[in-house]
Amino acid sequence: MPRSLAALPRLYVEPDLATGIPLTLGKEQSLYLAAVLRKSVGEEVVLFNGRDGAWRARMTSDSKRSVSLELVDQIAVQPAPSDLWYGFAPLKSERLDYVIQKAVEMGVGTIQPVLTQFTQVSRLKHERLVANAIEAAEQCEVLNVPVVAPEITLSALLESWPTDRRLILADEGAASASPVERLTQLAGEKLGILIGPEGGFSDVERTRLLGLPYVVPISLGPRILRADTAAVAALTVIQATIGDWR
Ligand code: SAH
Repeated sequence: MPRSLAALPRLYVEPDLATGIPLTLGKEQSLYLAAVLRKSVGEEVVLFNGRDGAWRARMTSDSKRSVSLELVDQIAVQPAPSDLWYGFAPLKSERLDYVIQKAVEMGVGTIQPVLTQFTQVSRLKHERLVANAIEAAEQCEVLNVPVVAPEITLSALLESWPTDRRLILADEGAASASPVERLTQLAGEKLGILIGPEGGFSDVERTRLLGLPYVVPISLGPRILRADTAAVAALTVIQATIGDWR
């Protein structure tokens, strides 16, 4: 994307985006554009909705309560959504925000909080997770905002797991090894990745997971990584070997 466009503010909106459709922003986004960024009539922003690609839009009013815009042209077509499923044991507050944002930046298609025995939190504010995912997409020029699923217990997840999808397990108990060769064998398959909580998987959970035919355990090296580090490490090695970095 040319630098000139990359410098424009990017906003996620709900309505359809097509030539000639006038669009009025809600209070929060209007305040952000007109007051925080001090944008005024005639200035441009980039809008996306997860369906119609990215559109350049020009402000036709700069009211702090309701900015209106006209759509100028489509500057990026909507890419195919990612099929990479990302499951993780939710962490506390700001580290949870971090993990959500990194999953978006790393191109996952579904974000699934999984409650395991040692998971530190049990109640999640779903709308906060969604807001974090949208903010990450706005900041990183991601046009597909991942689906953020409601939390599920590990047992319920495994009972409903689609058997045509491999579940890559970041297994802290695995002997240290590079996961590259094992991942390369999964090229072209439907994939999920599961990261455990700070306390790791319980012995019962790990034994159950390792006994499942669709589970592919991988090591993330000789050191025990914190759960948020493991999330980025696992997504990096997957995207780099069999994901969308090729
Ligand atoms: N029981 C340890 C492990 C927790 S690390 C502890 O309490 O610190 C949190 C999660 O990150 C693990 O469940 C695993 O999914 C992942 N992880 C961390 N280090 C890893 C490694 N070296 N190999 C594979 N997965 C790892």
